[in-house]
Amino acid sequence: MKLTLPSSLCIISLFRILRITCTMAAVIVLSSCSTDSTFNKDIKDSRSADRWFQQGKERVQKRKAELTQTRYGAVEKAEKRRDKKDSKAKNIIFVLGDGMGVSTLTAARIFVGQQQGLLGEEFALSFENFPYTALIKTYSVDLQTPDSAGTMSALMTGVKTNEGIISLPDSVQRADCTSMPKNSLPTFIDLAKAKGKSTAMITTARVTHATPAVTYAHSVDRNWESDEAIPAQEQAIGCTDIASQFVNNESRSLDILLGGGRRHFLPKEEGGKRNDKRNLIKDWQQQGEYASTLAELETMVTKAEAENSSDNMKPWLGLFSNSHMGYAYQRPVEQPSLQQMTAAALKRLKKNKQGYTLIIEAGRIDHGHHDGTAYKALTETQELHETVAWLLTQVDTRETLIVVTADHSHTLTLAGYATRGNPILGDVVANDTKGYPKQSASLDLAGNSYTSLGYRDGPGAIDAEHHSEKDNAEKNGLAKDDPNYRQAALVPMDYETHGGEDVALYAIGPQARLFSGTLEQHWVFHALKYAM
Ligand SMILES: [Zn+2]
Repeated sequence: MKLTLPSSLCIISLFRILRITCTMAAVIVLSSCSTDSTFNKDIKDSRSADRWFQQGKERVQKRKAELTQTRYGAVEKAEKRRDKKDSKAKNIIFVLGDGMGVSTLTAARIFVGQQQGLLGEEFALSFENFPYTALIKTYSVDLQTPDSAGTMSALMTGVKTNEGIISLPDSVQRADCTSMPKNSLPTFIDLAKAKGKSTAMITTARVTHATPAVTYAHSVDRNWESDEAIPAQEQAIGCTDIASQFVNNESRSLDILLGGGRRHFLPKEEGGKRNDKRNLIKDWQQQGEYASTLAELETMVTKAEAENSSDNMKPWLGLFSNSHMGYAYQRPVEQPSLQQMTAAALKRLKKNKQGYTLIIEAGRIDHGHHDGTAYKALTETQELHETVAWLLTQVDTRETLIVVTADHSHTLTLAGYATRGNPILGDVVANDTKGYPKQSASLDLAGNSYTSLGYRDGPGAIDAEHHSEKDNAEKNGLAKDDPNYRQAALVPMDYETHGGEDVALYAIGPQARLFSGTLEQHWVFHALKYAM
């Protein structure tokens, strides 16, 4: 049965009413509730940031106990000694591929391997040989398939929250300033700063975009990147935009923030988005260093290198593009690469004898997928792979914990019985009955060839009303490996959606052993906290 929008809304409302009824009045037995009592209980229990936090903390203790006990229950001395020896990580590097699901990793592995002349499938991305691996459950308190704000908040505050919320508990209502709690959740960056570490967040997205924003801002709406996005009545209550939170907070925990997004720091009159006529970049330059190009970033690095310690260094802000930075495959030369930003940050971070916390986001894997263009997502993943490969030559993993993961997945799928070594962006060529590749591409029921990669939904969909995008691609003669080629999708949508399945996590360094099994996403924070 096809539901019309009002009737689906009605069912959702009914569901919410039932859920509330269930949680409030256990004595009233409603059959529709009793069939789903566990779910209702979980939702009720989860409406508490304290509970999420406590649950994560306890899981770390449990894991530690598991690691230090033999199956007979006796404490293993050698293990205990080892644990004491490498108990803390001086430095923590947390690398996040935005939207880098497991299918993206498989496709990127083949993509990079094939560029090196290999068949591809046997290649390993730089972090795939890390000794510890886990699967991460990514759901938010209110979403089965989550967004970046809720997921990064879980990773950075140790508490699961709702869609669109930046480092605040799930008790807040989206876009409702009156629901702001008195105390914000401290982020992992705040904890690192309190321990005397130097801190950095670098991204290829806008620095005010959901993922990076979580490390320094607290907002009831991820879209409040600058003031013009906040309704007047919400501003009157006192909610401030994400860009201004970074610049105005003199006790900020981040020493370095690099990425794109100048437009949220500039007034409309100067080509930005701000309504309040403030030029936040000028305000920033009163207190910190600023770079808008790779050359200016290099000048900042040279200046920092002349310093003996990090104590007296001013904080850095680098905004290298108006909105997101360019995709890696076509990034303008004046914009630094993810690796160049990482290298710049690392040179300064290493000045602190007490260590550092560095968060790196390949922010545009997600955008390539939303656009239905696998080439863009894979080249962005390749940039993350190369950055981690380079990092491994620069840091000592005996004192530096490196964790590589994703906030959520996408609907990319790799299928169709392509022969071994088939070009990952190409049409499926299957094997013959003897196991050798056929001479021509496989055909679907309508007689058309099809690619190995596809999406569950998005602009690449072919249907009677919405088929124009893919049709255009083919009419314009776009090759299957063209950056703008849209892989076939099933459900027609303007943007491809996130995927709700687990993502992978890879770890190396002190306490990397904590990461194994299938873990709740907010638990990653507690393991990082334990390791620091
Ligand atoms: Zn996304």
